[in-house]
Formats: sequence, structure tokens, C-alpha cells
Amino acid sequence: MITDPIYLDNNATTKVAPEVIQKMLPFLETFYGNPSSMHTFGGQVGLDIKKARQNVADLFNVSSDEILFTSCGTESDSSAVLSALKVLPDRKHIITTVVEHPAIKSLFENLKLKGYHVSFVPVDSKGRLDMDFFEENLSEDTALVSIMWANNETGTIFPIKELAEKTKAKGAIFHTDAVQAVGKIDTNLQDVPVDMLSLSGHKLHAPKGVGALFVRKNTPFHPFLLGGHQEHGRRAGTENAASIIALGKACELAKENMEKEQKEVKRLRDKLEKSIIANIPHCFVNGDTEHRLPNTSSISFEYIEGEAILLLMDQFKICASSGSACTSGSLEPSHVLMAMGIPYEAAHGTVRFSLSIYNTEEEIDFVIEKMPGIIQRLRDMSPFWKG
Ligand code: PLP
Repeated sequence: MITDPIYLDNNATTKVAPEVIQKMLPFLETFYGNPSSMHTFGGQVGLDIKKARQNVADLFNVSSDEILFTSCGTESDSSAVLSALKVLPDRKHIITTVVEHPAIKSLFENLKLKGYHVSFVPVDSKGRLDMDFFEENLSEDTALVSIMWANNETGTIFPIKELAEKTKAKGAIFHTDAVQAVGKIDTNLQDVPVDMLSLSGHKLHAPKGVGALFVRKNTPFHPFLLGGHQEHGRRAGTENAASIIALGKACELAKENMEKEQKEVKRLRDKLEKSIIANIPHCFVNGDTEHRLPNTSSISFEYIEGEAILLLMDQFKICASSGSACTSGSLEPSHVLMAMGIPYEAAHGTVRFSLSIYNTEEEIDFVIEKMPGIIQRLRDMSPFWKG
């Protein structure tokens, strides 16, 4: 089993921070009481969940009673969207973008089948939103706008403050899927009027299977899961105490490490990207490089397949992702790259590198050294390569 990969796939999932593991272990080994119990043994777990809720709230500069814990980013997204539709039942129009993660995309496609009128905001070749389309479609009939804060494939950051302000002016609810933005860029919600925001633990060095949803005070909320009175009746089910406490610690660390993420991680990402572009012909960067997550680089290599690149990278224990949806059983290129108008073949030859604070200079130098040979080897085998 590979234990020491060069892990450049942090938008897929992240390593659990050692401090987070230390923090959560006692809640698996020793403090296993149910936080809703009357006895002190369980009750003390409830106190630690309370601290974790405060840690999550602090990352957004909001109040802890505006945070509810869920099982993942997908659950947070579904809870937010379905709640908004119940809050404004007379409005039948909803807006999202063409580049959302399947957690939102599939849900909106399903709502369309159920009779909602759905506007999918298009993007340009750099992945930037068509703001005119957004404003022309936003109306008094719009119940909800759900737009991701940053794109998982290209790292492109959307103008969430402006989008939320315009949405609020029409009396609609604004939700953002901030799963990729949290911990990488400033997500202070004091003057960004989003009503609801989703996040996922495993994208910020907490374990898989825990997430959170911010619901702004005075935003009516209808629970997705019905049952017990956990989370003040907003999300039933016995709390995943150890993972919630882990998420609290991860948010505390994310706040401390934000500067490192924005300077050091960005420096390494830029070094990798610049070197690839300078040393390998016929490749280009996807997305809005001026408004982009500091850790993400999506690069299309012409004349070859992304999956083949990943297989050769894997021989050097370098982990990244491709730009196709092959994990879902289809070999279609990613809907994000297709929406940006990236040519079909180039979209197929796309690799997404996503770094974290755990990457080192030596690792990046190693990848820089290996990439030209990997690409050349594949091009030498390609019938399309005339180089
Ligand atoms: N939204 C975005 C933008 C994501 O990147 C992901 C995961 O890749 C999700 C939602 C889903 O999060 P989870 O895996 O916690 O359900």
C-alpha cells in the first residue's frame, strides 16, 4: 500500500490533520456517551460539540447558533435548496450555474423534472459567470439562487457578495456551495449577505462524512431529516460527535493557516504551473487565473488523454485528477470544461493539480522534473501528435 504519495488531489479530499486526529480520538475511545443524554458522561460530549460549533462559526465570523452539522457537503446542499423551496412555495423559478458540482447540478436537474423553471447561468471561456444572463433571469418569481463560491475543477472564484446582494434585492434566498472555498480564501460572512452556506469536512483536513450548513439568523429553515430534536430540531439524528469535534478543530486550524494557504500554497502552485507551461508545448491553464483558489491548477495537455497521464504519474506516486467524469462510469469530458467551450480533445487531456499546506518544495520540484517526460512519452505513442 502506498503510504507516502505526492498528494496533489486535495480538491478531491484532504489528509486529516494530525492535530485533528488527536482531538477526535478521545471521542471514539473514551467519551462515547450520547450528547443528548441526561448523565454527565454524555453531557460533556455535548459541551465539546458546542465548542466545535463556535470554532466553525468563528471561521465565518457568524454566531454559533447559525451553524448546524450534517453528514457531508452534499447533505448541506440538499438541505439548503429543499428548505428554500419550502420557505417560498409560491415562487417557481430557481437559478444556478452550468458549472456546479453534481451535488447541486443533479438536484436542480431533478427539480426541473418536478416542474420548477430552472435558469443555468452560462460561463465564458475562462469560467466566469455571465452576469447579464443572471440579472436578466432573476425575478420576483425566483425562490432561490444557488451558486458555488469557487469551482472544484478550475478553482475559479465567483463574485458571491454581488450575486447575494442582487438576489436579496428580489426577495429570493441565496445559497452558496462553499465546499472548495472554505479554508482557502476569506469567507467572512459579515458583509456578504448569503442566507445559507455549505461546507464539507474532508476538504479541509477533517474526516470524511461530516459537514456543516450555515443558516443566517431569521432565515426560515425546514429540516431535511426529520426525527429527533438534535441540532435544535433542524437536523435529526444522533450527532457524529467525534467527527463534529474534528471539524471544529479543522476550522480552527484553517483560520490559523489561511495566510500560509494564500502565500505558500499559492507560491508552490504557481511554480508548478509556470514550469509546466514553460517546459511542455501545447498545454494551457483553464479558468480565471486572476480570481482563483490559491491551490488549484487545471491544465489541458493537447493530443493525449488525461487518464493516461494520471496512470504514468501514478507510477511515480503522484496523485492528481483528470478532467473527465470517468469516475461516474462515463468517459465524457467534464461538464465544467465543456461549458467553458474547451475543445473536446483538450478537455479529455486535462489534469487538475490541487495542493495543500502539506505539500513541500521537494515534492513540487519532483513533479516538475517528471511531467515533461510523462507527457512526451504519451505523445510519442499518440497518432494525433505531429510534434
Ligand atoms: N460541492 C463541491 C464544490 C465539491 O467539490 C464537493 C466534493 O467534491 C461537494 C459539494 C460534495 O461534498 P461531499 O463529498 O462532502 O458530499
